[in-house]
Amino acid sequence: MSLLEFDGVNKYYGETHVLKDIDLNVEEQEVCVVIGPSGSGKSTLLRCANRLEEIQSGEIRLDGQSLSAPNADINYLRQQVGMVFQSFNLFPHKTALENITLAPRKVRGVPKGEGNQRARDLLADVGLETQADSYPNQLSGGQQQRVAIARALAMDPKVMLFDEVTSALDPELVGEVLGVMRNLAEGGMTMMVVTHEMDFAREVGDRIILMADGHIVEDSPPKKFFSDPDSERAKTFLSKML
Ligand code: ADP
Ligand code: MG
Repeated sequence: MSLLEFDGVNKYYGETHVLKDIDLNVEEQEVCVVIGPSGSGKSTLLRCANRLEEIQSGEIRLDGQSLSAPNADINYLRQQVGMVFQSFNLFPHKTALENITLAPRKVRGVPKGEGNQRARDLLADVGLETQADSYPNQLSGGQQQRVAIARALAMDPKVMLFDEVTSALDPELVGEVLGVMRNLAEGGMTMMVVTHEMDFAREVGDRIILMADGHIVEDSPPKKFFSDPDSERAKTFLSKML
């Protein structure tokens, strides 16, 4: 059994068939990088794994438990699947620390002292120990995104999903966020990462998934993906990127 399993998953938006018979197993501690052209279904794939979107057929399982069944315990499962988006979505009127402690306190009843200590530890992990009392508008985009990562980690998820988390950042801020993700990967976090950062994909990814038109058209280790992919789609994709 893999930690996160997509089994014959189909997703439609109205008439539009967006995910087509997706089979994908993500192993514990694996970093699965998802790339592909705009509109190919990358965000939808992640959103379905967090039950932000419903699927029409197939099943998604976390640790063997159905995420997609109508009677799934969504609140419990969402705690297990952390997600970070392109837009940081921090609560603007709460400090970095409060952004991180809110969900553990509300959803899990974590006591204040314990929650604050954990949040400070997480802020230190993302290099922001001195910014606990800063509000989002006092932080750079890269700092805000690192708070957003810490906030997701505060729920102790089993898997972390990252959807183009550096795409909205000024170029000089991209590295600090990728560095946090790299540390997380090295610490053994299971991750699905949608990104355009090919150096990150190559160096941190265990597998590269190429999506095109709702299908997974290549699923290879980075070395193979970038040097000798099986599919024509991957060859074309790479030639356009270089
Ligand atoms: P990607 O992240 O790879 O750019 P998306 O998963 O966002 O792709 O989108 C896949 C397809 O689904 C696109 O054709 C997009 O227009 C469509 N789509 C995405 N979200 C919605 C939505 N909420 N309603 C209708 N169509 C959507
Ligand atoms: Mg997207």
